[in-house]
Amino acid sequence: MRLYYDNAYATSFEAHVTATADEGRRVYLDQTAFYPTSGGQLHDLGTLNEVPVVDVIDEDDGRIAHVLAAPLTAETVHGRIDWPRRFDFMQQHSGQHLLSAVIPQPTLSVHLGLELSTIDVEADKLDLTAIEDRANAAVFANHPLAVSYEDAATATGLRKATGRTGTIRIVTIDGLDRSACGGTHVRATGEIGPILLRKTEKMRGNLRIHFLCGHRALRALRADHAQHGAAVAQLTEAAREADKRAAKLALELAAYQGRELYAQSPRQRLAGPIDESTRAVANAFLTAGPGRILFTSQNAVLFASNQVHAGNELKPLLAAHGGRGGGSANLAQGSLPDAAAVEAVAVALGFPVVG
Ligand SMILES: [Zn+2]
Repeated sequence: MRLYYDNAYATSFEAHVTATADEGRRVYLDQTAFYPTSGGQLHDLGTLNEVPVVDVIDEDDGRIAHVLAAPLTAETVHGRIDWPRRFDFMQQHSGQHLLSAVIPQPTLSVHLGLELSTIDVEADKLDLTAIEDRANAAVFANHPLAVSYEDAATATGLRKATGRTGTIRIVTIDGLDRSACGGTHVRATGEIGPILLRKTEKMRGNLRIHFLCGHRALRALRADHAQHGAAVAQLTEAAREADKRAAKLALELAAYQGRELYAQSPRQRLAGPIDESTRAVANAFLTAGPGRILFTSQNAVLFASNQVHAGNELKPLLAAHGGRGGGSANLAQGSLPDAAAVEAVAVALGFPVVG
């Protein structure tokens, strides 16, 4: 007797040993709560009298073989199901029925794996977000699930026609789905927990959807979150390094430009923005030898010299033309009201108009 058929929540049970094989490593019972690999759902793990059950097989003659890690010699057994594993399978299996019900296209096949589960759907394109929303809404609605036994010939409303005859087991999600199935299911859709659609892949003209339910979905989201955090930290660090390197290169370039300008002439006037790189160029210019250099923009000037006191030269000129600013012996700068004032200051410093 298969106890899981009518009570998927039985986690322990008593049973009589009806037969053994393989020197007591293969045990048959008069009743069992152990689910054998079948219908796409993986077998349970657990113990019989504390001996680990490593496999559960649905044999052709209808018997269920419990494959044990060590020989068992007993007439009666106390069985225990590895509940976290079983409940995980129940979440995935009920989640699969629910998904197949809310996806408009027919489900062609199903795989319920140890880590990942998939549904193959007769479609070449699907709106995963819309399906995920519908599936989770059905979870939140907490539809009850029920098991019934009906005659295959007269059972109606099945999502997929069954090839079986006689009495069939039907799993119904109230208001959503009726499917012939021998698997273990949760009591209501709320127990499935969150349903996450991870990705799709093309499979021979159809679409394979990878999905996770319940604890698995939660674990995956948690892992994603940690991974994204680590990736962001890594990118931020890389960007910081790139910025540092760019700043260093800019200074190196400025130093090179300053020396080049000096090589052309120890007296230079250039147009350009007055900023950090301009100051770096001016400083490099002065290291090359005695000279003077002036940068001008629309409303600012920068004057550098190691022949005259730059600050003392520039400050009164700025004041005379409505500007302000000042500086040290080698480098001075200031702002002026307009281009005409800039030109007047340049000429007073002994620089002709930029050509
Ligand atoms: Zn099923």
